[in-house]
Amino acid sequence: MNNIEPTLERNMLASAAGYSPRMPWLAIGRLLLPLWRKDLAFKRTGWQYVLLMAIAAFAIVYGAWQQEVIHNFGALLNTKATTVFYMVPSLALNTLDPSLAEVLVWIAIGRALFAIFCAWLDMVFHKKITGRPFDWESMINVALVNGLFSFAALFAVLNQPIRDWLAHYDALVAQVPTLVDLNGSVALVMAMLIGDFCFYWSHRLCHETRCFWNLGHISHHRNRNLTQMTCAIEPGWLPLQAAGGLALLLLPVMSKLFTSDIRDAGIALAVLMVIDTLVDPSHSIFMYWIESKSRALRALRTVFVTVGVHYMHHSNEVTGPHGTGVNFGARLSIWDRVFGTYAEPPKALPRTGLFDPEADLCVNPLRYVLQPFMRMGLELRGNKLSDWPFILFGSTDYEPPNPVRMSR
Ligand SMILES: [Zn+2]
Ligand SMILES: [Zn+2]
Repeated sequence: MNNIEPTLERNMLASAAGYSPRMPWLAIGRLLLPLWRKDLAFKRTGWQYVLLMAIAAFAIVYGAWQQEVIHNFGALLNTKATTVFYMVPSLALNTLDPSLAEVLVWIAIGRALFAIFCAWLDMVFHKKITGRPFDWESMINVALVNGLFSFAALFAVLNQPIRDWLAHYDALVAQVPTLVDLNGSVALVMAMLIGDFCFYWSHRLCHETRCFWNLGHISHHRNRNLTQMTCAIEPGWLPLQAAGGLALLLLPVMSKLFTSDIRDAGIALAVLMVIDTLVDPSHSIFMYWIESKSRALRALRTVFVTVGVHYMHHSNEVTGPHGTGVNFGARLSIWDRVFGTYAEPPKALPRTGLFDPEADLCVNPLRYVLQPFMRMGLELRGNKLSDWPFILFGSTDYEPPNPVRMSR
């Protein structure tokens, strides 16, 4: 469906009107306009169907790699360190008891395979769970978008001023004194709490601040047919992520204040890694469905962000007490409970996507990536300079005095 507004088109043509038609960018604009307007759509017959299946097959492999599924799996072939639990610093395996290290490697392989399996089951059971056929076009679109975002991340990481800034930040963090040395299970629990506390506030900031939401995190929330394979990653504009992740910058500081040696946690490491495996496919409709039938999986919600709890974060049916959403935690539901933003997932799969019913589905990589910037640019152009700080850094509830008539 193409629901791009005529207003936007008028805006694009109006800004072109003052220039000579020979201007090369206008020619590029004319070329791009049909590409901008159209959403990806294939017929389910003849050569279009064959083409759709061929591109979809490529997108399945590439998409899985983009979601770091195969990527993680590849890293396991030469494992030296593994992540036990999301946001807890990875663990060097050669410093562990060899039999425990072997158990962790097997769980890590299982985690990668399980994520691939869930992505595949999402496609197979999509019609049964949602009543709608699997959205192949959306999967292809997201694979392209994720590729662009990853490329942007790579560009940002290779950018020398950003590298200098990060090195400077690392040097500052190195000067932070260590107040408490923790080890074993206490260290593990503390690392989980600190990691998720930083993630919670970073994520909430991304939802509540205009530029972090409109130019970044909105992409992760756009899809109305959300599954493991139709989930857009965060845009990789590192400076923006770093800004949106102000609280995440706290993580190295807090990890330095409470130095944690989790090696002595023993079998607790394996138990937490199994839980991490179960909740890792956090956009899987298949796992949501299984969770709705399993009391044991639902019991995990007391402390952990299960697939259901994170999928609920993508629901456009619940705005939450702050109007910007619910369930901001990454792996622990504790901070959402403490700060009053927890919402229990319903039995039936909630509708996902942006709160705005007029929001663009954007099954078009060009619009998906550029539309938020276009919208912000038009807002800045149509309003006074004194409104700019609010347009950029105000709350997501803020509407500029001259709003832009363009879908989100
Ligand atoms: Zn979010
Ligand atoms: Zn998500």
